[in-house]
Amino acid sequence: MKTQPYSSTLLKYIPFLYVIWADDLISPSEIQVFKSAIEKDDLNSEEKKQLLSLANPDNPPTLETRKNWKELIDASGVTLTENISYPLSAFSEKVANYYNSTEKNQLNQSLKAIELNLGIQPNHYRHLFKGTLKVQENIIPYQSEVIDQIMKGDNTEYIDEFRSLLKDAIFDWKLFRDKDAHRAHVLNQVKFLAEKGYGALGYQKAYGGIGKMTPYGSIFEHLMYIDASLTVKFGVQFGLFGGSIQNLGTKKHHDKWLNSTGKAQTLGCFAMTETRHGSNVKGIKTTATYIHETKSIIINTPGPNDNKEYIGNALHSSMATVFAQLIVNGENKGVHAILCEIRNKEGNLNEGITVEDNGYKLGLNGVDNGKIWFNNVAVPKENLLNRFGDIDDQGNYTSPIENSNKRFFTMLGTLVGGRICVAKGALSGAKYALHIATKYALNRRQFNSVSNIQEDLIMDYPSHQMRLMIPIASSYVYQATLDKIIRDYDTVINQDTRKIETQVAALKATITWFANNTIQECREACGGKGYLLENRIGDLKNDVDIFTTFEGDNTVLLQLAAKGVLTDFQSDFNSDSFVDILKYVGKNISDKLTTINPIFTNKTDKEHLYSSEFHLEALRYRTRRLTFSAASRMRKYIKSGMPSYQAFLKVQTHLIVLGEAYAHQMSYKIFTDFLQTIGDKEHQQLFEKLGTLYALQTIKTNADWYLEHGYLSTNKSKAIKRRLERLCSELRPYASTLVDGYGIPKKCITAPIAK
Ligand SMILES: Cc1cc2nc3c(=O)[nH]c(=O)nc-3n(C[C@H](O)[C@H](O)[C@H](O)COP(=O)(O)OP(=O)(O)OC[C@H]3O[C@@H](n4cnc5c(N)ncnc54)[C@H](O)[C@@H]3O)c2cc1C
Repeated sequence: MKTQPYSSTLLKYIPFLYVIWADDLISPSEIQVFKSAIEKDDLNSEEKKQLLSLANPDNPPTLETRKNWKELIDASGVTLTENISYPLSAFSEKVANYYNSTEKNQLNQSLKAIELNLGIQPNHYRHLFKGTLKVQENIIPYQSEVIDQIMKGDNTEYIDEFRSLLKDAIFDWKLFRDKDAHRAHVLNQVKFLAEKGYGALGYQKAYGGIGKMTPYGSIFEHLMYIDASLTVKFGVQFGLFGGSIQNLGTKKHHDKWLNSTGKAQTLGCFAMTETRHGSNVKGIKTTATYIHETKSIIINTPGPNDNKEYIGNALHSSMATVFAQLIVNGENKGVHAILCEIRNKEGNLNEGITVEDNGYKLGLNGVDNGKIWFNNVAVPKENLLNRFGDIDDQGNYTSPIENSNKRFFTMLGTLVGGRICVAKGALSGAKYALHIATKYALNRRQFNSVSNIQEDLIMDYPSHQMRLMIPIASSYVYQATLDKIIRDYDTVINQDTRKIETQVAALKATITWFANNTIQECREACGGKGYLLENRIGDLKNDVDIFTTFEGDNTVLLQLAAKGVLTDFQSDFNSDSFVDILKYVGKNISDKLTTINPIFTNKTDKEHLYSSEFHLEALRYRTRRLTFSAASRMRKYIKSGMPSYQAFLKVQTHLIVLGEAYAHQMSYKIFTDFLQTIGDKEHQQLFEKLGTLYALQTIKTNADWYLEHGYLSTNKSKAIKRRLERLCSELRPYASTLVDGYGIPKKCITAPIAK
């Protein structure tokens, strides 16, 4: 019998009210969403009053009323349809139609607004209703192609072309367990890419490139979807070896080597690290002694642990860029780079060179890493990469940079492009794993206590949503950040790169750690399936692991970043004016550390917690306060007579925290600027939510610090936690679209669980 006590217009709100009360979805701050939605609906004042009283958190409906709602809904026999844009609105309309048949084609706008703005998801209510769940095709308001396009931006042409190239059979996925076969395959792929012009992409036009790093960075990150070994080998050959010639050499070196390097006709390695000198490059022991009589430089490995180690491409290369202490007229001029032929045309090692395979590694076994020893190997003086230091015809050392410390950091600074690419590669690894884990979570069903409905998708567990949605949001924030930084790098190349070096140091560390944590989470999120090699996460985990160490160990890099922040990017950390700079920075920041307003500390409403002003201010405040306290502490130690190095060690852990805080603040700021560039308003809102999720998660992760500093009240901290969970469930329907938005070519998704 079709009888019930509500008017036909009010009736469609009953399933909503039932869900809201059953799942505790309305808080005092959200009542406004409900109010403004019904205000806009075609309801009379009596109906509005009645609805508001039924949604009043201060006076919840009785259990009896809620039981009646449930009976009314069940009696309609309407079943839920999952995976449509507004499942609860559609369900509610159908229930209302059952009692008052007023067939309509369009869903009520007010219901849709409540469903969207309160973030009500099927997992909040599907257990509440009778019947079997119907699954309909995924219809949502966002499109992965649009998301992909937004992210590709100005690089679209290069990316699309490269994605087409990846269709070639040479990039089909193969599982290797033999390092020699793997290395040979990767070498072929590198040569193929070089033939197609991708090796030289980052070089100047005269040497086959376009004189920009940005498209090169996009190519680099795409290679991660093929094989991380290929990414790294490609990076070593064209980025590290070729890049050292381009950035540390001059025209004579470019003319002689860059064309053949870009075409992979000359294979080279970048020999910087030594067994006992990795992070401390300044302290490497290899010597390069200039002999004026023969106009040659003698490269030598002095002691048993002074050999080069972990050098990529060591087994395949004919050339090496060797980093060594340059000795001219008996004086050490500091670390310089020298080109050295290590193999002859027949591929045999030259006299005085010893190379040993590093053997099997945890990952990246398609890359031939090895040790290299130099036993008094002579190379012509012209092989000195002489952009920052040269030897004149009289045999004297000359340099455009007087200060040897500054010269050293300037030389290393030119290699920062490689560091951006490493962060980009690691991020691609994370995106790849997130794609696989998300697709699996949208396929795999698991426990459900109600026997008459299907098991839940694992993606419908709030814990799973948190595990995947938060890193998905972060991946977009970091992608936009790295894309901006690499564009900036293209514009400041050959100028003052100090600020960008600081930014990249902080980002490389933060993002490669993020990638490793994410890949591990994705492995676990796929359960046992994630452990199978066919599903690709296992190898990815082992491959991306080392991204935290090479191109700068993360712990060391964060200190470098903090030094840049502390000195306001103005000066070298070890310069004489360092104490003055600390004083300046301390004073400058203390002026900006305004007193915290107690109203702000306690504010927990949705508008405030979702506002980018709150996020930016919170992230900035943390960086500023950490900078101020680190500068004050160091000044105090130095003033009491402690040498600056000891003072630095005293605050070392503090600096590491500062480096990471700086990366978070910078990333979020870049992302909010990026949001303004998105023309499509609907998708812009989706991206805004991703930014909010990133910011709130960052604040929550550091909640103890904010609580200690009185920046957040405990209530606010709890409210942020609740908001995070809600945001994840609000974004859950778009999980699939978001990971498709990465634009990973279909052929690269070989994992059976992701199909
Ligand atoms: C697969 C692979 C490929 C590589 N490819 C190349 C290549 O092609 N060319 C090349 O030149 N090098 C290459 N490397 C070397 C790489 O760059 C170094 O491993 C890296 O710089 C770290 O040096 P290390 O291994 O000596 O570690 P160390 O510097 O000895 O660090 C060991 C530990 O000590 C900590 N530590 C060190 N210094 C500090 C400090 N100041 N403060 C706090 N903690 C500190 C680090 O955090 C780390 O946990 C490669 C390495 C690997 C594994």
